[in-house]
Amino acid sequence: MSTHASGRLAATLFVPSRDPATLRTRLVDHVGRHARVEMVEGGDVLLSSELGLSRLTLDVGGLRIAAESRDSAGLAYIKMIMADHVLEFGEADVALRWTGAGEAGSPLPFFREMTVVAAATIGRFRRLTLKGSDLGRFAEGGLHIRLLLPGEGVRQRWPVTGDDGRPFWPDGNPPPARVYTLRRIDVAAGEVEIDMLLHADHHDAPGAAFAERARPGDVIGMTGPGGGDLPEADDYLLFADETGLPAVARMLAEMPAGRRVRAILETEDQGDRQTLPSAARTDIVWLHRRDGARLETGAATIEPGDLPPGVIVWGGMEQTARRAIYRRAIDIWGLSRDRLRLASYWRRGQAGGDHHHDD
Ligand SMILES: Cc1cc2nc3c(=O)[nH]c(=O)nc-3n(C[C@H](O)[C@H](O)[C@H](O)COP(=O)(O)OP(=O)(O)OC[C@H]3O[C@@H](n4cnc5c(N)ncnc54)[C@H](O)[C@@H]3O)c2cc1C
Repeated sequence: MSTHASGRLAATLFVPSRDPATLRTRLVDHVGRHARVEMVEGGDVLLSSELGLSRLTLDVGGLRIAAESRDSAGLAYIKMIMADHVLEFGEADVALRWTGAGEAGSPLPFFREMTVVAAATIGRFRRLTLKGSDLGRFAEGGLHIRLLLPGEGVRQRWPVTGDDGRPFWPDGNPPPARVYTLRRIDVAAGEVEIDMLLHADHHDAPGAAFAERARPGDVIGMTGPGGGDLPEADDYLLFADETGLPAVARMLAEMPAGRRVRAILETEDQGDRQTLPSAARTDIVWLHRRDGARLETGAATIEPGDLPPGVIVWGGMEQTARRAIYRRAIDIWGLSRDRLRLASYWRRGQAGGDHHHDD
């Protein structure tokens, strides 16, 4: 294992390239959307995020990427993201090989095998309790995870770290994966709780179909965590359909006293309402599609003057609703983009979910 002088884990990748300067520019354009970009002495570019740091150096015949992180999961994510982008650009004509920490064949630090220990039906949700080991890393740095869902009766072999830093699947193709939210995590007990919606199109859908048939003893994979953390503010306005409801439940459960939250929540009918305990001062509005109400109708009742200064607007919902609320927030409420955390969590008619922020 390679450890940097600062006590951080470090790894290096040399990407042979005829045009390393263009490769670096493209990497900075893409990865830089989610990182701070800095030009440093010697002409190197530094990309930093909560995952860690990468230094991009132009070298003879290629680009050198030096990555470091305070933890193995952060480093593994950086290695995977860099390799994904380099390969997507079609730049590397030889196999990529990282050297340093997290060598090929070692366990993927952001992966856990999880076993179902309980499955309950709550309205149109299945609430699964999953047990796994060493979950501390899943309690910070994001609310969401990806579930890797083998077909019924399939005994899956799980991935290890590949030479290029991406997951290597010993049996070839990975199983379908879907994004969900850790509604609750108990690191000491080694348990997480996930509410999975049995949506209208669920019979051939890997996520919902698994949720429906899940029984104690079933084994699935989990990677993560990432995304969904709220920036600090005194006031929040939250929008969610059923897919965003688990995130709202966790945010409210973890929110300290003194904060004010207005949550507008859309479900099919009253049966999907949940109690949402919080130390914060909450104003929760439930809207039901059965009554013809939608998140967009809820948003339309809010005037610019109703919004406290500094409010953060968060949302997790279907793509069309997200777009309408995003436009309203910019055009009618007059909010700047940095106050908005509106994401589409699924897209009607499209399998595989969605996770889209930018317009
Ligand atoms: C960051 C994030 C967090 C999420 N957290 C949760 C969560 O905690 N709980 C949860 O239940 N979902 C959550 N989702 C949404 C979930 O990932 C999607 O609904 C996903 O499509 C479900 O996969 P599936 O295999 O059941 O359906 P897919 O195979 O992806 O889709 C099959 C069909 O079902 C439709 N479909 C998918 N979702 C819905 C829906 N909600 N209502 C109606 N039709 C639908 C699709 O449009 C498609 O036509 C989250 C998504 C994101 C991006």
